[in-house]
Amino acid sequence: MVWPILTLLALAGAVAVHLWWRARFKYSQAICRNELEGLRGEQHQAHDQFVARQEALFNSMAEGVLLIDRQGRIELANRAFLNLFGVKTDIRSLSIIEALRSHELAGIVAELERANEISQKELKLSRPEERWLEVNGAAILDNNGQRSSSVLVFHDLSRLKKMEGARKDFVANVSHELRTPLSLIMGYVETLQDGAKDSPETASRFLEIIARNANRLQLLIEDLLVISEVESGRVTLSLQPVPLRPVTTKVMDDFRAKAAAKRIELVNETPDLSLWSDPGRLEQVLSNLMDNGIKYGDADSAIVVAAQAIEGNLAHISVEDHGPGIPADALERIFERFYRLDKARTRDQGGTGLGLSIVKHLVHSHGGKVWVTSRPGEGSTFHFTIPLAPKQA
Ligand code: ADP
Repeated sequence: MVWPILTLLALAGAVAVHLWWRARFKYSQAICRNELEGLRGEQHQAHDQFVARQEALFNSMAEGVLLIDRQGRIELANRAFLNLFGVKTDIRSLSIIEALRSHELAGIVAELERANEISQKELKLSRPEERWLEVNGAAILDNNGQRSSSVLVFHDLSRLKKMEGARKDFVANVSHELRTPLSLIMGYVETLQDGAKDSPETASRFLEIIARNANRLQLLIEDLLVISEVESGRVTLSLQPVPLRPVTTKVMDDFRAKAAAKRIELVNETPDLSLWSDPGRLEQVLSNLMDNGIKYGDADSAIVVAAQAIEGNLAHISVEDHGPGIPADALERIFERFYRLDKARTRDQGGTGLGLSIVKHLVHSHGGKVWVTSRPGEGSTFHFTIPLAPKQA
């Protein structure tokens, strides 16, 4: 009777031990699973953080960045890239053609896939606006040396290209402007040497033309020196309180003889305002505007200079003439270098085409604005603003 009981007890003990071990095993398994999930979660979090940081880094770059996967699909395009190409939608996982419809860029990517590296490729965009980009790119290789993706970086060269274009235009314009009076001078000198000097009447007429063109050359060179100084940003203003009325009176006195030759009356309506300005530069602005008013104004008319204090601690100064006026489509362009409404006529009047460009730069360097209003056929009014002097000054 004892043996069966002992056997039963032993069996029960074995079952109990087995169950205890199972429970323990399950418990350890659950702990391991939890730890593993925790680790996986941390890994995910670290990965998400890495991606977010990478995205923030790419988005803070001024250059456009494009990451393309092994299949030629877009993996990442940073903010600068989207702006450059005017893209407003999510283009991830699309091909270059699907996303951007640029065969030129697709060609550059194909070349990068062949060569594993490209540098200084030029890409011209016509949409959303005309831009020139420089593209550099490299393949990203995996441990087996296989291309896993490609990265392309886009630099916007548009500003440089525009500056280069403006410089070329400027050089061409200057050469042209210098060549015209110079060839006239040379032509008349030659004619004089060939015998015209023997006729006193012809000689004095030719000498007059030579003197007029030499004078034009001098004016042009003086204006060129001023424009190169103001455009280089090297111009230093000696700002100080300047009483406006004495400056306008002086400028009018300087131009009185020239105005009298066309019977133009100069009217000074400026009040006693104190400006925060460089007196020499202010005089130059007013002189250029006055000179134009007389050059282009009708004979027997008047030029009125007026001023008033306006909001923002500024003085608003205006120079009004009575002449042909300026067509609406040229109101902004006349401030460009060498822009003239009527090339032949304005050159005859001794214009260099630089006067208003100098005015614009000088007013801007004072922190002011310049613009023109016009009633074609009746006249024009040039306006500019200059800060008022601080009260205590
Ligand atoms: P310019 O030396 O030829 O006068 P500016 O830069 O001073 O050069 O002026 C540019 C052009 O703007 C002139 O050639 C002229 O066609 C036009 N312009 C300037 N001022 C006036 C004005 N007061 N009335 C009409 N046209 C003007």
